[in-house]
Amino acid sequence: MIKKPELLAPAGDFEKLQTACIYGADAVYLSGKNFGLRASAKNFGYEELKKAVDYAHGFAGKRINVYVTVNIFAHNSDFIELPDYLRYLEEIGADAVIVSDLGVFSVAQRELKNTQIHISTQANTTNYVSAKFWAELGASRIVLARELSLGEIREINGNLTDAQTEAFVHGAMCMSYSGRCLISNFLTGRDANRGACAQPCRWEYEPFYIKETSREGEFFPMYEDGRGTYLFNSKDLCMISHIPELAQSGLSSFKIEGRMKTPYYIAATLKAYRAAIDDYFTCPEDYERNKGKYLAEIGKTSNRVFTTGFYFGKPEQIYESSSYERSYDFAGVVRSYDEETKIAEIEQRNKFSVGDTIEVLSPEGGIDGGFAQTITEMRNEKGAVADAPHPKELIYIKMEKPVSENYFLRKKSN
Ligand code: SF4
Repeated sequence: MIKKPELLAPAGDFEKLQTACIYGADAVYLSGKNFGLRASAKNFGYEELKKAVDYAHGFAGKRINVYVTVNIFAHNSDFIELPDYLRYLEEIGADAVIVSDLGVFSVAQRELKNTQIHISTQANTTNYVSAKFWAELGASRIVLARELSLGEIREINGNLTDAQTEAFVHGAMCMSYSGRCLISNFLTGRDANRGACAQPCRWEYEPFYIKETSREGEFFPMYEDGRGTYLFNSKDLCMISHIPELAQSGLSSFKIEGRMKTPYYIAATLKAYRAAIDDYFTCPEDYERNKGKYLAEIGKTSNRVFTTGFYFGKPEQIYESSSYERSYDFAGVVRSYDEETKIAEIEQRNKFSVGDTIEVLSPEGGIDGGFAQTITEMRNEKGAVADAPHPKELIYIKMEKPVSENYFLRKKSN
């Protein structure tokens, strides 16, 4: 019998961690201020790391695991603070650290007694020999390279007995090999392999093309649309239509990319994947029947056009416009709700006005949860009519159905 995989969500800050827990994650991954690969996410200071672990472990009767990324390619100076940091992570109860550098792995092996070690996708594990080697060294899980087909993943899992595997199933992808890339360092001095990538692969470049000298007549066009040229911009991964194949490949964990995304993105993506996984394991016919709904939900987040990446062989991965597709805007998030007055306190994020129809996204009700309503009146904290609230302003709206904290509002894009 196939074991239900873990749904693993990104948590770039405490609000996103809460969102991930509420919207169905089984585990979250996050980073401290140093040693992780998303330096521009807010990330977690020492105190915040403890708060995050306590929150996730105590979440509403469901213990949610916390994995902390320590996956920079470390330089000599990084090892001064590292042992203390790792011991601190163990002390606060982090369930695993995610590492990619062998030196960091060896220090983690020495310092950690109870905290597990996961091997980051940055380590580029592409075969079962490497996977078994990591397991023999003491890794409990390997996050596989993104450049693997489902057949290769099945073969790795068929040969691996002492460790689990995890793979990205949704989110942005690098055009370079699992993030090994120097473009950002070269153009901006920001090192992608130390968590500071400026994403220059997605910038707009002057119209041009590349030709490999010996291939006469073969041009690699870099002229994409009227707005400019996008050198190596990757589409986004989406495997929600292939949950059965992923589950049958032996993966233990389905990972969502996106520590830099909004809480709304995390909520909507998790809602869709939570429903898809639960439906498939409860009733595969429901899963097949609801596929269009999962895709519709996912399609309401901003994305760069979806692809199945390398899962089905040669990728149709890159060279699209760098702009996002976005059919819905993140309008606001519910901060509180008064059951008597039926008024919700909303933190506004993007413009919406009286007369607009908004959709309310809730963590309950599976893929059919949530509802639409038309805004009839909005007031500000002083009780005055709020015609044009600014982002993050608190506004008050009468709701047609009950809502709770961390329900999200979205509005069809114009
Ligand atoms: S520049 Fe692009 S390809 Fe390179 S590491 Fe950054 S996101 Fe990945």
